[in-house]
Amino acid sequence: MVKRVLVTGGAGFLGSHLCRRLLEQGNKVFCLDDFSTGKRENIAGCLQQPGFELLCQDVIKPINLPVDEIYNLACPASPLMYQANKIRTVKTNVLGMMNILELARNTKAKVMQASTSEVYGDALRHPQNEDYWGNVNPVGPRSCYDEGKRMAETLCHDYRDQYGVDVRIVRIFNTYGPNMRADDGRVVSNFIISALTGKDITVYGDGSQTRSFCYVDDLIRGFLCMMELSEEWLGPVNLGNPGEYTVLELADKILKKTYSDSKIVFLPLPQDDPKQRCPDITLAQTKLGWKPEINIDEGLTRTIAYFQQLMQQAGLTDSGTSRRDIG
Ligand code: UDP
Repeated sequence: MVKRVLVTGGAGFLGSHLCRRLLEQGNKVFCLDDFSTGKRENIAGCLQQPGFELLCQDVIKPINLPVDEIYNLACPASPLMYQANKIRTVKTNVLGMMNILELARNTKAKVMQASTSEVYGDALRHPQNEDYWGNVNPVGPRSCYDEGKRMAETLCHDYRDQYGVDVRIVRIFNTYGPNMRADDGRVVSNFIISALTGKDITVYGDGSQTRSFCYVDDLIRGFLCMMELSEEWLGPVNLGNPGEYTVLELADKILKKTYSDSKIVFLPLPQDDPKQRCPDITLAQTKLGWKPEINIDEGLTRTIAYFQQLMQQAGLTDSGTSRRDIG
């Protein structure tokens, strides 16, 4: 059956991969994006296809569309980008979520909400499982995103409870791969671009904080598993790769893989930067039969190749490259 699927944030990093997969499955795909952080280049391949429709719109504006499924991915996700306009980030998370849930209520569409490991904040339990309620600062630089996503989860729960909306929540841990913005300030893109251009690798703090990195194809497969689950199930469920690395270990891997002689420099740790993050994916494994398949070495090789190609296309050399030029 051909499904009509709405992907909000469809021109972003994750959204663009999801749109491509949904089109490959023969669905009609509506891609909604206001291009605040999404990029047209990400969906260039989709734009040619008859089943694809682009809606240039902010998710906080009311949407009226006949759809069967909705993936709500709209929101800047890197700390640099979501902190650039914090109030807008809150609106995107809260008003955008309400809009999507109202649309689902009217159309009886199924919803998958892209939540985040940030709901656990600076976690005091390791690895983090879904029962953990988190350790989140409500009045800090990350709050607009962390608390915004937490409120969005609450809305999902309440629309399900009060109106019977079939909504499913996935909590996404750090994800990387092609179509990440070069200028989004995240650790993987920052380190790769610096290594490829011979600039200093900027480690915040002493680099002992950990993250667990999931390759984008694995994550998108997890989204589809969650949506396709026949039983109505809110979750939330963690989607991430439990391989845990310190930021310094990641820097080292990227330096080796790029044969770079960039130096590592240490900069102050941003406020409220989580110290340790690693998903417990037992629930995803048992309920969805999902687990990541692409290890960090393979994933980094593919991601480095993507950024190398991007730099070649932009005609950039080792000297004087600015992230913004290829962002
Ligand atoms: N980080 C770093 N150097 C950078 C960018 C990030 O050391 O150039 C650190 C950051 O302080 C954090 C980790 O890498 O501890 C992951 O940061 P990112 O912004 O990718 O995502 P987060 O998991 O913090 O949302």
